[in-house]
Amino acid sequence: MSYRAPVKDMLFCMTELAHLDEVAKIPGFEDFGAETAQAVLEECAKLNEDVVAPLNWEGDKNPSSWKDGVVTTTPGFKEAFRQFAEGGWQGMQHPVEFGGQGLPKTIGAACIEMLNSANLSFALCPLLTDGAIEALLTAGSPEQQQAFIPKMIEGAWTGTMNLTEPQAGSDLALVRTRAEPQADGTYKIFGTKIFITYGEHDMAENIVHLVLARVQGAPEGVKGISLFICPKFLLNADGSLGARNDVHCVSIEHKIGIKASPTAVLQFGDHGGAVGYLIGQENRGLEYMFIMMNAARYAVGVQGIAIAERAYQKAAAFAKERVQSRPVDGSLPGSGPIIHHPDVKRMLMTMRALTEGCRAMALTAAAAYDAAHKHPDAEVRRQNQAYYEFMVALVKGYSTEASLEVTNLGVQVHGGMGFIEETGAAQYYRDAKILTIYEGTTAIQANDLVGRKTVRDGGATARAVAQQVAATEVQLAARDSVAARSMHKRLQAAREAYAQVVDFVVGNTKASPNAVFAGSVPYLMLTGNLVAGWQMARALLVAEERLAAGEDTDFMRAKISTARFYAEHILTRVPGLRDAILEGGDSVTALALESF
Ligand SMILES: Cc1cc2nc3c(=O)[nH]c(=O)nc-3n(C[C@H](O)[C@H](O)[C@H](O)COP(=O)(O)OP(=O)(O)OC[C@H]3O[C@@H](n4cnc5c(N)ncnc54)[C@H](O)[C@@H]3O)c2cc1C
Repeated sequence: MSYRAPVKDMLFCMTELAHLDEVAKIPGFEDFGAETAQAVLEECAKLNEDVVAPLNWEGDKNPSSWKDGVVTTTPGFKEAFRQFAEGGWQGMQHPVEFGGQGLPKTIGAACIEMLNSANLSFALCPLLTDGAIEALLTAGSPEQQQAFIPKMIEGAWTGTMNLTEPQAGSDLALVRTRAEPQADGTYKIFGTKIFITYGEHDMAENIVHLVLARVQGAPEGVKGISLFICPKFLLNADGSLGARNDVHCVSIEHKIGIKASPTAVLQFGDHGGAVGYLIGQENRGLEYMFIMMNAARYAVGVQGIAIAERAYQKAAAFAKERVQSRPVDGSLPGSGPIIHHPDVKRMLMTMRALTEGCRAMALTAAAAYDAAHKHPDAEVRRQNQAYYEFMVALVKGYSTEASLEVTNLGVQVHGGMGFIEETGAAQYYRDAKILTIYEGTTAIQANDLVGRKTVRDGGATARAVAQQVAATEVQLAARDSVAARSMHKRLQAAREAYAQVVDFVVGNTKASPNAVFAGSVPYLMLTGNLVAGWQMARALLVAEERLAAGEDTDFMRAKISTARFYAEHILTRVPGLRDAILEGGDSVTALALESF
């Protein structure tokens, strides 16, 4: 089954939950109300459904290949990338003065979801380019911005992020790539970077590598890392492409998923030194890279939602067609489509509820990002920034873990046909696995949630989230529908469990770090579960009103059912997670290392 972009649900999340009308009041976003959003999404859907999605299966069967330093991408990718760039999609969220469209993230994030649903491997190239643009916008000099950003927005050049080295994965303090200052103000870069997504390819004229390296004599650890621009082709004085830089792709990896996305080993400086240009100041590289990483982490979370949506669509279509067994309620005289079986429905509802919950969480977080960046009131910006940063860990950590559950269920719905490759359900499962690993593993997101996002402000942001959830409970309590009552009960229990865990994390991280970090991933999952559930509760409140007004009744009924399912089957996981965190730390750490 081919992909159909869920435009209606995206618009619902944007307008009803993320309050796009408020975003459109922010100076700079006045042109981006609901009507524009709909037009953009429909146009975006066309490109992704018709051009990008059909290449997904092809990419799995016919991945990128390497020969003598040259990487050839899957047939069709180059042409699709040209169409993507010509449509202006690379510049969607970037500033107009550099050739972008200046769209709010609230709309842009939905477009990014579509691109990733259509083809995760393909979408990675624009994803990394977005991150490179964002890092240059924040820390690059005006000359660097002018030299590199417009070309990337145009799609003539693409960007990469070079952090990982064989000995430095999660722990970037171990980066060893070195940078030697030159008399002309440039640097010569020497070292090996591994796992570099789209580190080499044939879809663009130039590749703008952003590289973490250590300037000679810099302090040990993360405080001695600097960030450099190291383009594949150097630029002539007029900005045109000049000599080949000394950075070469020596191989690409063979992977279980996202096979069409070339994952490169890059060798810097084997022939005298790769020319690098320092971004910002020496030794502040990791700080700048974090800007790029935060943009990329959010986008990887959206990748999770995207692959979950595609897996759900495929599973739902299969379940309507595959005939097997008589329904237990005797509603059919003989064998019927498997969607009649309650357990198949349970799987589909789990897939749907997780996907919709995570989408609502991501799009409301995007609205906070927009307010944090452009709202005229400094206090509103500050509050939204804190909320957004808290959410990034959840959008990345929770949505990607959820995508594994969803794509796994997608295979299960297909039975044996899911385990063999021909249906494509297995590809989604294999592709999804990388999402909990790159841009910081789930554990790294959880560490971030505990340390930077919860403990550092004494739990203030975490508790502010709980207060907002409690406000939604008050609204639910005023309703007397079965769905609202059920949601109220589960949301309240989950929020109370969350509050206990926040107190535990804030109170014990310093004195008993092992006890807290033994439960860091469960804390991340609990919080993501609660926040996505809270957004489903808000969706339920709106959908009941719209249904009563007779608007779009099928969609609203489905939203209410899905929200109720989330409450009863997913929010109910929260108290168990709470118990594991509060009481289960010892059993995590009890076994002596020799016993493993
Ligand atoms: C397909 C692919 C594409 C990639 N693209 C890029 C790219 O474009 N640019 C780039 O720079 N890198 C890229 N990476 C690298 C990726 O970001 C790293 O693989 C990731 O950060 C994890 O590092 P690692 O593989 O060394 O695992 P490790 O750091 O060795 O982790 C192994 C395990 O230990 C756990 N662990 C490690 N430290 C901690 C800790 N402090 N607390 C708790 N648990 C911990 C991890 O969670 C994990 O389970 C890519 C990787 C892949 C596979």
